[in-house]
Amino acid sequence: MSLTVNLLMTDPNPLLLLLLFLAVAAGWVLGRGGNSRDVAEQEAPPAQYYLGLNFLLDGEQESALKAFSEALAVNADTFETHITFGNLLRKRGEVDNAIKIHQSLLSRENLPDIQKHQAHLELARDFIAAGLMDRAEQLLEDLQELSTEHKQESRILLIDVFEAQRDWAKAKQLLREKISAETLSVEKQAKLEKTGAHYCCEEAEDALAGGDLELADTLVKEAYSWSDDTIWPSVIAAAIEGKRGQPRAALDRLLAAAAQDPSFVIELWPDATSYADEIDAQPELLLFLRGIAGNSRDPALRVLLIDELIASGDIELASELVTEGVEETPSTPLLSRYAAIHEEKFATAEWRLVSQAATAVSVKQSAYRCGVCGFHGPSFYWRCPGCKEWETLDRVKKR
Ligand SMILES: [Zn+2]
Repeated sequence: MSLTVNLLMTDPNPLLLLLLFLAVAAGWVLGRGGNSRDVAEQEAPPAQYYLGLNFLLDGEQESALKAFSEALAVNADTFETHITFGNLLRKRGEVDNAIKIHQSLLSRENLPDIQKHQAHLELARDFIAAGLMDRAEQLLEDLQELSTEHKQESRILLIDVFEAQRDWAKAKQLLREKISAETLSVEKQAKLEKTGAHYCCEEAEDALAGGDLELADTLVKEAYSWSDDTIWPSVIAAAIEGKRGQPRAALDRLLAAAAQDPSFVIELWPDATSYADEIDAQPELLLFLRGIAGNSRDPALRVLLIDELIASGDIELASELVTEGVEETPSTPLLSRYAAIHEEKFATAEWRLVSQAATAVSVKQSAYRCGVCGFHGPSFYWRCPGCKEWETLDRVKKR
């Protein structure tokens, strides 16, 4: 049966149909001599079996699949096939049919508890896929109590449910349980602790949006206690200081965050600039950027530094950096700056056209892409809207 299951998982189309057809036939033939089966179901091939054959001959594969599934008696031996078939339907987006199959498994009294719990778990997955989070939550809470075999899997799904409901407090509680109850590698534990910090940040963002600065502050501190491997708490701490009318403290928080992880300088820059403007700290900010950009090979940082130098009036150094950059690692953003700096030298219509094209292309390229699922868009998110992984969005390298 496990070979059948594996094949079903990998190839859902004609092969699936053939295997299900054979499974029904084999189930019926074996069942005639067996004594552990439901005798009434095994004495003759069920009507649904012939119906399935008719559908198959008529080329109606979807209907044939459904009929064969209904024809296959549910017992401990065929259980895996039913589960796989239900899961396959869920993956194909037919969640209603998956729910029907898994619910029908749950209603069978002849199945051992471990298989019922498996059906229970798959039904919870169906509800999650259907967006019925309350129902999934109830099933998974029950399963936490009922099944030791499925405790870990159901806990992971329950965490997903709480994440989807933005119930960060409950998600954190389960994450703590998971860390203390399971044997985890150092890397895995660190990843989970970082996720705990992300939950605190999500909760703090909600508090900040609701104007509750005290709560946001408490949650930022809690985030630090989970993990210091993310700068998100510092970014929120800066926003809290900003809302409290403390631009100096806010700027210090952002600069500390940028120093901890220079790959975020571009994202932090607009807020840092606005706080620096409030306290006339632009020269300090430029000095900080020169230090960071000097130690980095990130082409976007070099472009940011060039822009800031131009804005501060230091055209000479900007020009030097642009020329050096164009020679070393030419890119459209650098070319557009080169064109802008040298516009007077080449003040012709053709040059202006080249300059405008370089600028347009460089603006188009400034997007983010997820390293896990490939989601891309113009804005940065701490959590990928596509695959829901944390901190996987990177700036698309500007070439
Ligand atoms: Zn993603």
